[in-house]
Amino acid sequence: MANILNIKSFNVLSIEETEHDYHITAETTQQAGLCPNCHSSEIVGFGKREQLIRDLPIHGKRVGIYVDTKRYQCKSCRKTFYESIPEADTKRQMTIRLKDWIGHKAIKNTFASIAEDIGVADGTVKSVFNDYINELEKTVRFETPQLMGIDEIHLIKPRGVITNIQNNTVVEVLPNRNKETMLHYLGNLHNKDGIKYVAMDMWRPYRDAVEAVLPNATIVIDKFHVVRMANDALDTVRKSLRSELEPKQRRHLKNDRFILLKRRKELSDQEKFIMSGWLENYPQLALAYIAKEGFYEIYDAENLLDANHRYQAWREMIKPEISGAYADLIRAFENWQPYILNYFHHPVTNAYTESLNNLIRIMNRLGRGYSFEALRAKILFSEGVHKHKYKKPKFERRGRDSEVMMKYSFNEEWPPSTQEREIIGNYGADISTLIEKIEKGEL
Ligand SMILES: [Zn+2]
Repeated sequence: MANILNIKSFNVLSIEETEHDYHITAETTQQAGLCPNCHSSEIVGFGKREQLIRDLPIHGKRVGIYVDTKRYQCKSCRKTFYESIPEADTKRQMTIRLKDWIGHKAIKNTFASIAEDIGVADGTVKSVFNDYINELEKTVRFETPQLMGIDEIHLIKPRGVITNIQNNTVVEVLPNRNKETMLHYLGNLHNKDGIKYVAMDMWRPYRDAVEAVLPNATIVIDKFHVVRMANDALDTVRKSLRSELEPKQRRHLKNDRFILLKRRKELSDQEKFIMSGWLENYPQLALAYIAKEGFYEIYDAENLLDANHRYQAWREMIKPEISGAYADLIRAFENWQPYILNYFHHPVTNAYTESLNNLIRIMNRLGRGYSFEALRAKILFSEGVHKHKYKKPKFERRGRDSEVMMKYSFNEEWPPSTQEREIIGNYGADISTLIEKIEKGEL
């Protein structure tokens, strides 16, 4: 019986099992130590109190340990104190191992389900989890990206997400999209002068924060966010046609939306045929379509000057019939022109955009029942999602490493597997690994 808990400081006296719970009565085994106040060894017993300490579930049942903790008085300084139990956090009334377990588990499960499993309040789980994350943040530090992406992710509400574009990883999820939050984040980054480029969408608070804190970083507006506005404009025109159409035609146009939004060069012959039907019959749609394609062609420019010319020419061909639909794009382009055109000097390509969008979609589905803090931790600190930076293997003179080569050719693994290489940094949470794990139900 003494062994069921496997906690040194407790001697189990009795166990009572009910349908859902184990009630374990125990006594403490340790001798009185020194006075925590004056370190005198002259201490005497001064009563005791019963405490209920929660522990890890046993056989799926909740566990409560009832223990009399001893109270002492110091004869030197007269102060009284309770004995401390190294395996328990008496303030939280739970064992240390339960605290660790909650922290771990709260990255995967909702606070409510954990609270139910161990028989404590949701708020207790939340506060233990917060402590756990604070500890984790002290030990896990992600490399500051040279090419940083700032995007938006919807977790309950819009949040800022910081990515490492070269490594396809997430390095931070910020609670909101405010300038102050971004200033604080960027201002406290280690090695922030190493950030060369920041790719972002057209969001003024981000631009202001980056310019204030990272004067040497070049802002490049993410191409994806710009061209998406051309698609939105075309879609606005498509929707405005609905009132002119019969219900059946309306449905067709809705289905054919994806053909309209595709680049012309990517259409199949059949799709081209379908589209020409729409464009011939609806001149306004045709104008909007030509404008959309024309806008994409700006991004086919050879250089900044060419891109600028293409934009001017495009702007002049926008007919009054569609200028309303394209007004947002034109305004955004002109407000952000230098930052958008930076792309033609520094084509920071957002290879991650598509996978990040997938992650955002999945997180939305997964997010129910979780707090923002838990979702953030899930993204940043789940087990096995980090992409590491390894020390390069030592440069070996050709010919002399034949022995090593031999060894690996037997194992059919060259270069040596990553496990044998020394980790010297952490790039953050790998986006594709996150998606894979979420889809497998592992997160
Ligand atoms: Zn004392």
